[in-house]
Amino acid sequence: MTNILPFSRNVQECEIGVETKILAPTTENIALAGQLLRDGRLVALHTETVYGLAANAFDTAAVSEIFAVKGRPQDNPLIVHIADVDDVHRLTRWFPETARKLAGAFWPGPLTMVLPKNKAVPYAVTCGLDTVALRMPGSPVMLAAIRAAGTPLAAPSANRSGRPSPTRAAHVMDDLGGKIPLIIDGGSCEIGVESTVISIIASRTDGAVPAKIKILRPGAVTADEIAAATGLSVGSDIEIDPAVLSPLPEDAAPPSPGMKHRHYAPRAEVILVEGDFDGFADVVSRVVGDAGPYKLWAMCFAGEGDKLSVPYIEYGGENDHLGQCGAIFDALRRLDAMGAERVYVRAPSRDGIGLAAYNRLLRAAGFRVVNLHKET
Ligand code: AMP
Ligand code: MG
Repeated sequence: MTNILPFSRNVQECEIGVETKILAPTTENIALAGQLLRDGRLVALHTETVYGLAANAFDTAAVSEIFAVKGRPQDNPLIVHIADVDDVHRLTRWFPETARKLAGAFWPGPLTMVLPKNKAVPYAVTCGLDTVALRMPGSPVMLAAIRAAGTPLAAPSANRSGRPSPTRAAHVMDDLGGKIPLIIDGGSCEIGVESTVISIIASRTDGAVPAKIKILRPGAVTADEIAAATGLSVGSDIEIDPAVLSPLPEDAAPPSPGMKHRHYAPRAEVILVEGDFDGFADVVSRVVGDAGPYKLWAMCFAGEGDKLSVPYIEYGGENDHLGQCGAIFDALRRLDAMGAERVYVRAPSRDGIGLAAYNRLLRAAGFRVVNLHKET
């Protein structure tokens, strides 16, 4: 079964030019994924957040290959995925009570915890940091692949770096086809944005002093849910890192290195518009009025598009934040495919999971925001 794919076994060889198969998550295909991963190869796998590009987390050469294939900056560390809570002890030297409670509440699921790494974790995974980001994913496909590989898997999103994250196997094929041997197609990703990333900070490592939590990247697990699971309070003990909503100053050292890189960006120029629908329609019609040479599109909520004077893509209901998350990256990719040059986007509210949708769009827009609330 392992010779189904015509590829070289030498992981040092450049992957460019390999045939990329898309296979269903059958027992046999998951076993093949496990074999490839044990052999030091990369496999793209369905998760409930976005598709991940996985490698054996303990295999430095395979992990380096992830950076090469994605064109990922060398200072943007990877999340390590496990299939069993006990596996944290293979990767971290400190798993405090707060982390245990969070794992109990949200694993398997879209929460990543940054904890001190142990010696087994290669610096290739953490980009030289002494911390490692850990998650137990909810997707049965990813969990089965981790078990089949018999090792924790380092896996960033399976897109070319900087592009919108992949939420379907076809997105992975578009970005990485010909560079990796296998994509396991588990259908579209239920959540559609990457996991919530938190760091847990404690003044005493024995856990005697309650920890503080910083949200480095918003996702489907919200600050309020983290508060409910830990007994900590949003604001005093649980902080949302300022870089979630603002560009970092040029010289700042980011708490999560991924924050400083351009992200999720389509080729089109994206402008986020905060305000109500009427204000949004007004902005769009004004720009159409002085029709520039660009191809103008709108990205709006379900049921709104027909009232606009430009082509549009709808991305979930105004109050359906999970629906918005599930549609954002696919919408950005379709806009590219349609040749959009400038896209005005209706900004979601920042409530609950809306913060994750807002954060991805803000970054796709490179922080270009028209705030109609401020204009009035
Ligand atoms: P991605 O792989 O695209 O989902 O991105 C992983 C995110 O986790 C990036 O924003 C990283 O900066 C963040 N991350 C991974 N490891 C660490 C770490 N040790 N400390 C802080 N952030 C991390
Ligand atoms: Mg990514």
